Amino acid sequence: MLNQELPSSAYIHVPFCQHRCGYCDFTLVAQKDHLIDDYLAAMEQQLSGVGEDVELKTLFLGGGTPTHLSIDQLQRLFDAIFSHFQLATDYEFSIEANPLNLTEEKIDFMKQAGVNRVSLGVQSFDSDILTFLERDHQPQQIFEIVQRLQSRIENTSLDLIFAVPGQNLENWKTTLNHAVQLNVPHISTYGLTIEKGTSFWSRQKAGIFDLPEEELAGEMYEFSLEFLNSAGLKHYEISNFARPGYECVHNEVYWTGYPYFGFGPGAASYLNGKREQNHRSVITWLRRITAGESPISDQEELSPEDRAREAIIFGLRRRIGINVEKFAERYGYDLYDLSQSAIKKHVEAGFLEETNTHVRLTPAGCLLADSVVIDFL
Ligand code: SF4
Repeated sequence: MLNQELPSSAYIHVPFCQHRCGYCDFTLVAQKDHLIDDYLAAMEQQLSGVGEDVELKTLFLGGGTPTHLSIDQLQRLFDAIFSHFQLATDYEFSIEANPLNLTEEKIDFMKQAGVNRVSLGVQSFDSDILTFLERDHQPQQIFEIVQRLQSRIENTSLDLIFAVPGQNLENWKTTLNHAVQLNVPHISTYGLTIEKGTSFWSRQKAGIFDLPEEELAGEMYEFSLEFLNSAGLKHYEISNFARPGYECVHNEVYWTGYPYFGFGPGAASYLNGKREQNHRSVITWLRRITAGESPISDQEELSPEDRAREAIIFGLRRRIGINVEKFAERYGYDLYDLSQSAIKKHVEAGFLEETNTHVRLTPAGCLLADSVVIDFL
């Protein structure tokens, strides 16, 4: 039956960074390393509810910056994880990393601990843009770090940000070109968004800067599709490009509606059709776990129709789109019964296309995906 199986994926949130970048609204604390030991103790406690020897096909450590932790701290976290989980033979173990944390010693440690995929927060190869984004590395350092990393952990992904104030198309092309020259098998590209509560939000409101025009952001995105595809990095999800066989398996679990565990502040789990989210405040999450209280702040039981609609929203993120026949088999709803008018509207507008088997976004639809999928809710 749908989603009744035990998850074989787990997400661990590591909420520590050296500095909070001006655009970042993720669940994290900066300059609060004195909380790391308490966090590790709380993770040990939260993980103790899992049982033993649960097999994982994918394990993802995200943040924050997991590599901000020292080797000893990472070792303690891994010990806690592997007291309850074991990795399947064909596992994917990903970790998000900040370039400057990746000393040879730390990379060797991660490799020996089983990490086989690293998602690196590069963001740009332009010095001014990195400074604007408040990142702590410089372009020339990235080349050396990526080479050092790839000599040990080949499956490296670079995160890049486009549509940054002051950025032009040529600048974005140069960043993509450098990324491709590094010969990594996976690249993620994100348009800069300004979230409420961030320092960028206040600065934009004060008129200190503004985002590039939508038209320019669109040109940057379209260029990414064309350029990365021609470099052999296939566009497989709105923001993600990979060489065949290097798609992020963990993220595919989210996009295809399979269950997963989530541990740490702000992390969500999806078990038996129920989504639960831990408290987003690091301090509240810590306090609740330490007091033996539930860290969950929100939960939602999805009805069969909710699950089907959610599957449409996530399914459209994938470039392959939604297989109409398999959708009906899995969710018990006909895609067209649920979404006839939305499909018609967006096919006519050129944002969706229908093949013999699938409904999927067009490249133009990928650019406006958020406003397309809203009609499927
Ligand atoms: S390093 Fe990443 S997670 Fe940390 S503050 Fe910057 S953008 Fe956010």
